[in-house]
Amino acid sequence: MKIFTYTKAETPQDAIRDAAASSGARYIGGGTNLIDLMKELVERPEHLTDVSQLKTTTIEKSQSGGVIIGGAVKNSDLANHELIRTQYPVLSRALLSGASPQLRNMATTAGNIMQRTRCYYFYDINSKCNKREPGTGCDAIEGYNRMNAVLGGSKHCIALHPSDMAVAMACLDAIVHTISDSGERQIPLNEFYKLPGETPHIETVLKEHELITAVELSPAPTNKHWCYLKVRDRASYEFALVSAAVTLDMVAGKISRAKLALGGVGTKPWRAFNSEKMLSGKAPDEHIFRAVAEDVMKPAVGYEHNQFKIELAKRTIVRALKVASGGVA
Ligand SMILES: Cc1cc2nc3c(=O)[nH]c(=O)nc-3n(C[C@H](O)[C@H](O)[C@H](O)COP(=O)(O)OP(=O)(O)OC[C@H]3O[C@@H](n4cnc5c(N)ncnc54)[C@H](O)[C@@H]3O)c2cc1C
Repeated sequence: MKIFTYTKAETPQDAIRDAAASSGARYIGGGTNLIDLMKELVERPEHLTDVSQLKTTTIEKSQSGGVIIGGAVKNSDLANHELIRTQYPVLSRALLSGASPQLRNMATTAGNIMQRTRCYYFYDINSKCNKREPGTGCDAIEGYNRMNAVLGGSKHCIALHPSDMAVAMACLDAIVHTISDSGERQIPLNEFYKLPGETPHIETVLKEHELITAVELSPAPTNKHWCYLKVRDRASYEFALVSAAVTLDMVAGKISRAKLALGGVGTKPWRAFNSEKMLSGKAPDEHIFRAVAEDVMKPAVGYEHNQFKIELAKRTIVRALKVASGGVA
């Protein structure tokens, strides 16, 4: 590991000042991703600004009746908070399906959103990776790409976004609150991540040293018709092959509003804005669910080892919609 300096910030303003003062600084939350990357020499920061102790650890009702989650709230605290368990169960379930209890006790909300891909070639500094080292190429495209993306990729990168929490937040239309030296801003999570295109190393719309301070959820849409379904190689402590987050508003047996987001398949948490509209005004039915699934996966491009994800994703969508429309998952 490369030598680095370290400061523990007490306020968001301290944090952005501290990070801006050193070239090559990184924020560190729980460190469960960043430290691994530093050990592998994928990340080589000169300085770490610790933001895990900022006073952004509260989960509170917002004025609009939604909820504001501090950026430093631990994944375990978020998953088990009464407001989240009862009003946003899809988020609680997504969090509890990720990593392990020990990791969730360390990992923060902001760190989870910002976690890097698990693409094997990104982690291996002897491989070509446009995300790690722009312009070098992508060994995943012709390599062992079983865990890579089938939606949103480009000829330069097919690295997957691995978060479970962010998939549920994409489904819930979460808003990311940030602060930087140009002030505060609020960014819809569904506009936060960038597709790789020709610049896979630019993953989000954040500016250098912009700090995530909170995530806001609008008033809970439903706490009855929802599902977070994660399909993976092992029952726990494993990233998703495919996951689906669904919430449905239902009136008199018909779906009035559906929201559907996918994980394990996209270069970013994949919200199916257009396809989900096909469900409006429809009674739950396997044929319409399958039609939605076909529509979501129409643009998918499979590679040698991950082709199977396309059909798996369709079946996961159908099952998640069935569970959600049938009542509490
Ligand atoms: C063995 C293992 C299994 C896992 N399984 C899963 C899984 O199944 N599902 C899943 O979703 N995740 C999984 N994870 C990933 C885990 O959820 C992430 O490592 C964790 O959420 C990262 O949070 P952190 O606070 O530790 O981030 P850190 O490691 O501290 O930081 C991650 C990134 O976020 C940036 N950052 C941190 N805080 C801020 C901030 N406030 N503003 C801006 N940038 C910030 C850092 O600079 C860094 O780039 C797994 C991890 C491991 C090690």
